[in-house]
Amino acid sequence: MNHDDLNHWSKRAADWTRDYHATLRERPVRADTTPGKTAAKLPKAPPEHPEPVERIFDDFARIVPEATTHWQHPRFFAYFPANAAPASMLAEQLANSIAAQGMLWQTAPAATEIEQVMIGWLRDALGLPGGFTGTIHDSATTATLSAVLAMREAALGWKGNAEGLSALPRLRLYASDQTHSSVDKAARVAGIGQANLVKIETDDNDALKPGALDRVIAADRAAGHLPAGVILCVGGTSVGAVDPVADAVAVAKKHDLPVHVDAAWAGSAMICPEFRHLWTGIEAADSIVFNPHKWLGAQFDCAVQFLADPTAQLRTLTLKPDYLQTLGQEGVTDFNDWTIPLGRRFRALKLWFVLRAYGLEGLRERLRNHVAWSQALAEHIGAMERFEIVTSPVLSLFSFALVDGDEATEALLRRINDDGRVYLTQTRHRGRFAIRMQVGSFDCTEDDVMEVARVLEDLG
Ligand SMILES: *Cc1c(COP(=O)(O)O)cnc(C)c1O
Repeated sequence: MNHDDLNHWSKRAADWTRDYHATLRERPVRADTTPGKTAAKLPKAPPEHPEPVERIFDDFARIVPEATTHWQHPRFFAYFPANAAPASMLAEQLANSIAAQGMLWQTAPAATEIEQVMIGWLRDALGLPGGFTGTIHDSATTATLSAVLAMREAALGWKGNAEGLSALPRLRLYASDQTHSSVDKAARVAGIGQANLVKIETDDNDALKPGALDRVIAADRAAGHLPAGVILCVGGTSVGAVDPVADAVAVAKKHDLPVHVDAAWAGSAMICPEFRHLWTGIEAADSIVFNPHKWLGAQFDCAVQFLADPTAQLRTLTLKPDYLQTLGQEGVTDFNDWTIPLGRRFRALKLWFVLRAYGLEGLRERLRNHVAWSQALAEHIGAMERFEIVTSPVLSLFSFALVDGDEATEALLRRINDDGRVYLTQTRHRGRFAIRMQVGSFDCTEDDVMEVARVLEDLG
């Protein structure tokens, strides 16, 4: 296959893409397959000789879609969305065509500078102060790990990277039990340890209690531990828990601790001023992550981290061997210094395309619709016999259950997903099994959302 073939097959791929998206509503949302079924369709070994692209393409069309859970399906209501707006897909094709490594300004000047401009555009669009800079990671997990590593190094006076952690004091991190498991993972991977991620008590709304945070930090200091930082969530993954950012940051600052805010899902909604009350006080945070690859239409991977002052993270992550020196290029940004991997994709291009192709107002309208439709559905389900709302909507996420108990609710969820018209997933709230419902698919309509009510009436 050469570049002329690529041109020919790209057109075929574009046709396939159009047909795939046009027929998504006719497909079951969740993959209709069983473990091992796809692998069994592939030969045991790669071919010794070239195969015609026609055959490769046919196998793709025959094998892949039917064993795929369709994340771009307008009735995908599971987890959180992983939206891919058409403008994002186009930008990714172009980024793939260039296939540059954006580790240094020198290796990708356009990618570096467009990334800087996109960080500024998004910062302003989310209503954050002009002082924030930032970078794009592959995932919120990596952004949070980067923030936690910087917390660790600052707390240790920059000794951890150099000396290892064995002889150093016991570091402590603080977060509520509603924060995402990526925070637990960061504590583990950063060498701080799961046991030193202290889960702070929450109130009736699942929000971290600032008074409890204050007491636990003080007790840790008295016990000789070394507090390193606080991680807050705005829009927790389970039921959308929202920590009181202003009060919690005030407690952290009183103890001289940095704060990282995980708004991976809910951050996108902050392009709408009316939702910003959810993170009042955010301007005092040190680090914030949100995923345009969830709800904003820029497809995976695209996790934006804003930093009030990047110095600590740069001091933690910068490592420049001789072969990465860029002679005579002082004063430029080498984004690999901001992140864990050296290599970086041109992720800013899809942000540039998405923000321009839909405009902030076009994106706001989508998000506002999602929130309104979700609330309408929650009201509808709340009024249905034998159903109960377990957690009310936070933006477009709520959970519900049957009044008949966990077993009945779990059985219903299985029936819903085997049915295939819609796809929902589950969580536990205070021990109770609940069906999680979020609206966020880029192309979904009010009718797609209300299909959930029809499915519940049919199967409930
Ligand atoms: C989805 C999610 C994450 C993890 O995101 P990745 O980009 O997949 O690492 C972290 N925190 C919250 C609140 C999330 O919803």
